[in-house]
Amino acid sequence: MATPVVPPKKKRIGVMTSGGDSQGMNGVVRSVVRTTIHMGCEAYAIYEGYDGLVQAGDLIKEMHWDDVRGYLSRGGTLIGTKRCMEFYERPGRLTAAKNMVEKGIDALIICGGDGSLTGADMFRAEWPGLLEELVSKGQLTRAQVEPYQHLNICGLVGSIDNDMSGTDATIGCYSSLERICEMVDAVFDTAASHKRGFVIEVMGRHCGWLALMASIATGADYVFIPEKPPSEGWEEEMCEIVTSHRKLGKRRTIIIISEGAQDTDLNKITADQVVKVLSDQLKLDTRKTVLGHTQRGGLPSFYDRWLSTLQGVEAVNAILDATPDTPSPVITIRENKIERSNLQECVALTKSVAEAIKQKDFNKAMQLRDVEFKEYFDSYKLTTSTDRVKMRLPEEKRLRIAIIHVGAPAGGMNPATRAAVAYCLSRGHTPIAIHNGFPGLQRHHDDKPIGSVRTIEWIDVDPWVNEGGSELGTNRGLPSEDLPQTAHCFKLYKFDALFLIGGFEAFTAASEIRKGRDKYPAFRIPLLVLPATVSNNVPGTEYSLGSDTCLNTLIGFCDAIRQSASASRRRVFVIETQGGKSGYLATMAGLSIGALAVYIPEEGINIHMLSRDIEFLRENFKYDKGASRAGKIILRNETASDVYTTQVVADMIKEEARGRFESRAAVPGHYQQGGKPSPMDRIRAQRMAIKCMQFLEETFAGKSKDEVAANKLSAAVIGVQGSEVVFSAMGGEDGLEAMETDWKLRRPLNEFWRPLKATVDILSGRPKDSDCCEECGKLLSGTPLKSVPHGPRVRAASIGQPLTAVVSYGQ
Ligand code: ADP
Repeated sequence: MATPVVPPKKKRIGVMTSGGDSQGMNGVVRSVVRTTIHMGCEAYAIYEGYDGLVQAGDLIKEMHWDDVRGYLSRGGTLIGTKRCMEFYERPGRLTAAKNMVEKGIDALIICGGDGSLTGADMFRAEWPGLLEELVSKGQLTRAQVEPYQHLNICGLVGSIDNDMSGTDATIGCYSSLERICEMVDAVFDTAASHKRGFVIEVMGRHCGWLALMASIATGADYVFIPEKPPSEGWEEEMCEIVTSHRKLGKRRTIIIISEGAQDTDLNKITADQVVKVLSDQLKLDTRKTVLGHTQRGGLPSFYDRWLSTLQGVEAVNAILDATPDTPSPVITIRENKIERSNLQECVALTKSVAEAIKQKDFNKAMQLRDVEFKEYFDSYKLTTSTDRVKMRLPEEKRLRIAIIHVGAPAGGMNPATRAAVAYCLSRGHTPIAIHNGFPGLQRHHDDKPIGSVRTIEWIDVDPWVNEGGSELGTNRGLPSEDLPQTAHCFKLYKFDALFLIGGFEAFTAASEIRKGRDKYPAFRIPLLVLPATVSNNVPGTEYSLGSDTCLNTLIGFCDAIRQSASASRRRVFVIETQGGKSGYLATMAGLSIGALAVYIPEEGINIHMLSRDIEFLRENFKYDKGASRAGKIILRNETASDVYTTQVVADMIKEEARGRFESRAAVPGHYQQGGKPSPMDRIRAQRMAIKCMQFLEETFAGKSKDEVAANKLSAAVIGVQGSEVVFSAMGGEDGLEAMETDWKLRRPLNEFWRPLKATVDILSGRPKDSDCCEECGKLLSGTPLKSVPHGPRVRAASIGQPLTAVVSYGQ
């Protein structure tokens, strides 16, 4: 008699959120649960952090596909978090180990701060000993513990403080920064109206990231952070800076203080103390504002939805790849690249920052925090000091740097200009503003200058720190519209370098000028492009200023639309996104709102796709488990198809729904460019603009025109590529123009984000072509639907295929 085949036990992966809550934790849970199910494993949520592991019972629950619907856009953590004293002690961890074995959980993904991850690491180190103890005490049998010899854990850093070493960002820190900036922006008006000073206290425990970034993003006059205490006599330094800003015409004073601020002797500096100094010494009407817990609240920003989703996918992959010898990973991010790092090392490094601060070794603390952190601090100092004679370069090294905005406005153009101007002034360069793009320049008339080219002062640009759009005026016009006149103006105003901030047009403009160098010697100057466009379609970079602002605006729009759809039930919205011929915006927005389908120009739209998606919708509503209440969204890039317009797609869905559900089209249009730039666009604008100025100065100051033209990097793009910020040459056989540009479709030839499209589809449960009948688009029989509990919607054949897209992301 044949022995019955016992199916092997599916791997059970537990996910928990622990420590302080942060925005994006729910995105982690959604992504871990759905990826786990997609990979053919079972997902369990451990409620209330380690307390759930110790108490077990109802606090450890299996999660199905639909249980995490709507999680992406929710703040806080829906599976709860709690400080758990028992877990600090071995007996607590022993009970936790017993519960895990009894519940059959093989692996644990923990999203929390350094405390939670320290606990996790300790748990894993003790695991074999804990099992041994459970057996020796007779609480579990040897047979029971046998399948659980190795505990796999993976950490995800969820914290608003961004205090973990080894990662540029923690899940939640950018949403929190957004809350802070919203509030500081709001204080601006009253501060300026009354010429008041405000001392604003922000969170961050022992880490100054939130305070420093908020200061950069809002142009605060002075900042207090624990890692870099102000030197003795800070009171005088602060008053001097505030006075100099006031003399230049600034009507408001903003000081940001981290809750962990201290002096070099580790004595706490309080907001009240700072208020007193300003009131007493400067007679400034100064108020204190403590932002408190509002900083933890609100909806997760685009970045946190994106990060939590991709890191969740990566955590499941890491668990499945782990062998008994693999050290426990923590999922990190460097610039734009998601990586696996050694959990123990990152925790140790984080602790060493605290130790360095305790030892008053502040230089070491700054270095250990992150290279980027120090860079930000230095650039902040540069932009707040208006008169640094010591920093000036010798005359012969000083440049006349022209700054121009090209193309459509994008969030971050103004802050980038502000930072470039501040840098130039502190080094002795002359910043020159070109107003209204190349047409503005070309309109110049020798007999009657119209003032489109002007030197620019610090006070002109200081208020631009949080302004959206383009204060210089931007324009799609190109140099080729009047090349001789463009060259004439370059010569007339003696430009030594041109700094172009803009999108594909800025790239094109720099290319035209570069190519005109043989004919026009005035063009033999360095040309540097800082990509700024909501479409993020400039060759040489994976990130453009303005794209984060746009995505935040777009997901806010989608959240509101989804709410309206869920109120009216059984409604599908087809939303049209901008992006030109690039599907970046649509795909990224799709990833961060959990869109049902995303239509992009790179793939086009065909009748198969539509009928498959309509069928998918029909099935979804048929096996409705609350689906009628969850508004559904399809995103369609504006150029995805000439025939299947947004309205046509919406009408087709309506027609085919045969009354079972309805659909509407919505076009946010220019609204997507957003209002004020997002904090991320503001701080990156500052960092990149300053890097550009340093690059111009270090590479080209004092060089002849021919030397400049001979250097391939004299026409370059600054960009984020994987884990680095780089400058890439535009010209030459191997330059961006020849090798990486699709000129016809105005986008990079290899779009780094393309592999992520599959992740969007998988996480929304959208069937693939192979899951549907080619004739009618119907889901093939045997394709289990996600709305049926326990069942992933993807075809069995595709279950278990790793989402390699994410592993190779950014490489
Ligand atoms: P965060 O994770 O935000 O840093 P905590 O430091 O409060 O927050 O840690 C959250 C929980 O993690 C604690 O309540 C405790 O259960 C567990 N934990 C923290 N540190 C340790 C440790 N050293 N050993 C064991 N468990 C720990």
